[in-house]
Formats: sequence, structure tokens, C-alpha cells
Amino acid sequence: MENCLFCKIAEGSIPSNKVYEDEQFLVFHDIQPAAPTHVLIIPKKHIPTMNDAGPEDFALIGEMHRIAQEVAKTLGVADSGYRLINNCGPDSGQAVYHIHYHLLGGTRLGALVQ
Ligand code: 5GP
Ligand code: ZN
Repeated sequence: MENCLFCKIAEGSIPSNKVYEDEQFLVFHDIQPAAPTHVLIIPKKHIPTMNDAGPEDFALIGEMHRIAQEVAKTLGVADSGYRLINNCGPDSGQAVYHIHYHLLGGTRLGALVQ
């Protein structure tokens, strides 16, 4: 997709600090980390938001959870714990309209919901 920041990161035309890559996915450090561990998990396929995922995309989205589990281990936060966040649409504050999960950890995170 033209003018999509994460598509450009996925194709390598904008550099990123990668922690995992395969044919379908990329994981890289967030440029403005909100926790000691803060990476972004993206599919290379351009899907703007969770609302835009079709039935054909849910296997891909499931795989993102497998990758989160693997990356959490690699980054040493699997046992201490971590949070996965998907922002979807304006009220969530989604800034980049290419579906992604934030994986946050490395500190005690404040509660968003009780
Ligand atoms: P959103 O608000 O869309 O869920 O999150 C987008 C995230 O992308 C933000 O946490 C922001 O810091 C991160 N981000 C924005 N631009 C760049 C960039 O050029 N490189 C990297 N690595 N992260 C970025
Ligand atoms: Zn994109």
C-alpha cells in the first residue's frame, strides 16, 4: 500500500529495529517505547484495522498471537508478563492504519480495565 508507514517498514524502505521476521510477519521495536519492552507485531499484508479483517485473515491474526508468545520468550518477558494491545479506530487512538499488536512488558503495567 502506498503511503502506509508499516508497509514501508515491512518492505524495508523505512528502517526498523527488527526482533523477528518471516515471510508473513515482522516484529520491531516501537520508536517511542511506552515500557522497557515495547515491540509492534505486524502482518506484511496491509489490513488497515481489526474491523477490516475478513474471514480469510483470522488465521493470520491467530498466528500473530503465536509470534507474540515466541517474541515474549525471546525478549525475556514471558514469565514476568506482558500485555498485547490492538488499537482499532479513532476512539482507541490508532495512529497507524495498518493492523498491529503492541507487546508491552518489562515493568508492572498500570491497569486499563479492572
Ligand atoms: P497505534 O497508535 O497506531 O496503535 O500505534 C502506532 C505506534 O507506532 C506508536 O506506538 C508509535 O510510537 C509507533 N511508530 C510510529 N512511527 C514509527 C516509526 O517510524 N517506526 C517505529 N518503529 N515505530 C513507529
Ligand atoms: Zn500497510
